[in-house]
Parts: sequence; structure tokens; C-alpha cells
Amino acid sequence: MYEGAVQDLIDELGRLPGVGPKSAQRIAFHLLAAESADVTRLVAALVRVQQEVRFCVTCYNVAEAEQCRICRDPRRVDDVLCVVEEPKDVVAIERTREFRGRYHVLGGAISPIDGVGPDDLRVKELMTRLMNSAVTELIIATDPNLEGEATAAYLARLVSPMGLAVSRLASGLPVGGDLEYADEVTLGRAFEGRRRIDA
Ligand SMILES: [Zn+2]
Repeated sequence: MYEGAVQDLIDELGRLPGVGPKSAQRIAFHLLAAESADVTRLVAALVRVQQEVRFCVTCYNVAEAEQCRICRDPRRVDDVLCVVEEPKDVVAIERTREFRGRYHVLGGAISPIDGVGPDDLRVKELMTRLMNSAVTELIIATDPNLEGEATAAYLARLVSPMGLAVSRLASGLPVGGDLEYADEVTLGRAFEGRRRIDA
């Protein structure tokens, strides 16, 4: 379509989630016309993310140190652990201010269609963590869609011999969607009204 550098940029942008070929082209031409300082800032932000941001060694949230801000916080309680799919879900739950425990980020959800099984997620790490911990309640806050429900059911079964209280967020969340699409009040209520699940 285009020559060299422009086409390379369109191709790279087109690989981003939610960016189709038309959007990729629009963004590419926007960048071509943009102020050089703006483009430099964007490049610097990308490089910084790549160099400085890593995953927390304990919960796998994004972190700028060995452990994330939440794992390092001594005021958080250690007996409740909330399992989420992605770091963006940690942000969504933190916004509700309903939760004072710790997190575990799986890195996705079980999805046979996409070839994602438990071994592709941080399930083994979760089990190891639960084995030597003070956790008495596990809140499974995976997305309210097919993959999220399958993951929740799988985890509930897996941890059932450990004798923990396992709960799932209450209904009322937009079904089929992402946790992050729920507003703070709805998500906060779903958290408060969480139900025990018995595997
Ligand atoms: Zn952490």
C-alpha cells in the first residue's frame, strides 16, 4: 500500500488490540502530521514502559520495583486474596475502595478456543502462594463472561481441598463484558454482595 516506513508503522499499529486497518492508517497519518515533540514524548513513554515496568514477583501486577505498590503496603490485610485476570482489573477494583486485601493476577482467563489453558496462566503460582499463606478467603473476580466463569469454576474446584472460603462477585455486573467496564458503584456493590461458591 504505502512505502517502507509508513507501511511498517501501519502494520505495527494494526497489531494492537482494538485497532483495525482503517484506524491504524488514521493513527499513522496523524503521527506523520504531529508535532515532533509530541511524537518524541510518545516514543519515550513506550521505551520507559518497556525498560522500567515489570511484573510484581508476588502478585504479577505491574510494578516499578520488585514488588508492586499493593504488595508493599503494610496496611493491607493478608487474609483475603482477590484473583483477577489482568492488571487493569486491579485498577478497577482499587477505584471502588471496597477491598483492603491483596491480589493475584492470572494473566488472562481459560479459553479453549484461543488455546489458553491453566498452564498458560499463573495458576501454579497461585497455588504455591496459598500453600504458605495466611489467606482464609479467596475472592474470584474474573470477568463476567464465558471465559471468566470457566476460570472461576476451575479455580474453585482446584482450591476446594484447602478449606478456604471461596467467593465470586455478585451478579449485577454487565454480563459478557470486562470487569473494567463496570462503574465503581456497581463493582463495589458486586464486591460487597459476593457469594460463597461451593465446588
Ligand atoms: Zn504485587
